[in-house]
Amino acid sequence: MSVTFPWQTTSWQNLTNSQQQKRLAHGLLFHGAKGIGKMLFAVSFAHWLLCEQPHADKPCGECKACLMLKADSNPDLLYLTPEEEGKAIKVDQVRELINKISLTGHSQGYRVIIISPADALNINASNSLLKTLEEPPENTVLILISDKPSKLMPTIRSRTQMIRFDLPTEEQSLAWLKQLDTKQPELVLKLSGGAPLSAATMSENEGLAIREKLFTNWKELAAGQADALESASMWVKDGLKVFENLPLHWVNSWLIDMLRSLHGGPIESMSNVDYAQTLQKLAGQVDLKSLYGLLDRLNDTIRLNDTSANQLMLVEGLLLHWAGLKRQV
Ligand SMILES: [Zn+2]
Repeated sequence: MSVTFPWQTTSWQNLTNSQQQKRLAHGLLFHGAKGIGKMLFAVSFAHWLLCEQPHADKPCGECKACLMLKADSNPDLLYLTPEEEGKAIKVDQVRELINKISLTGHSQGYRVIIISPADALNINASNSLLKTLEEPPENTVLILISDKPSKLMPTIRSRTQMIRFDLPTEEQSLAWLKQLDTKQPELVLKLSGGAPLSAATMSENEGLAIREKLFTNWKELAAGQADALESASMWVKDGLKVFENLPLHWVNSWLIDMLRSLHGGPIESMSNVDYAQTLQKLAGQVDLKSLYGLLDRLNDTIRLNDTSANQLMLVEGLLLHWAGLKRQV
């Protein structure tokens, strides 16, 4: 059985071919949407590079390097990640890594460094990595991973070979999710923007139940039955902390469905099939102009939530805006 996901076969063949033809770049940037398995691919590929007798589609699993990888004790595989999730990768961490790889020798094969998310490298950390990326020690491969490659410094990007990972087709994703016995695979996949790993995580973390909880609160806010400020902390704690930006994208799809309804679209055209009637009713209470205003506000919230802005304040602002819309009931 292959060690990668079914939708990654071509990437695997291309990279392993490059290695066999001795033209593998020493800096690789794996980029593409979140939740499609770039990190797992990188780890599998690193194992394959370190393996002493790899098969075409996987490491042997039996050699000394493989056994050490299984025990998580192979010194030739190194990771560079933020010390705290969501924070930057700092220059001291990069310096420490460079010291390690320049001082210590390694076995005859490869040494692989996985940097994820590479867009978390701050400016100093990026600058300090440049030289290593340009001229790494012999047989050293750096794999950078990012779903926001435009956030990387151009000097970093230009020193890597960019390898794009596409979103799998709906068919591939659904087949994979069904193998995992995911409940309501079509719905969770849609709500995860088509990214199968995000969909599986959503399913495992009760994502549908959380969406239901947030939608109930959204209705209560419209009816003046909930307090926007109190609700905001619930949204952040149960929603954004667990699913990052996803709950904001759910709200986006609710608003788009409401707009469809106000523009006279039929109920079948709505993407939130399970909420269609409620959304139609909510849309009937407000006017187009204020709904477009709220959509602008939401887009700002999504954009700012990617930066270090205060998440709670952003969500408070959004919910106050929604609760305060002029309604005809
Ligand atoms: Zn092996």
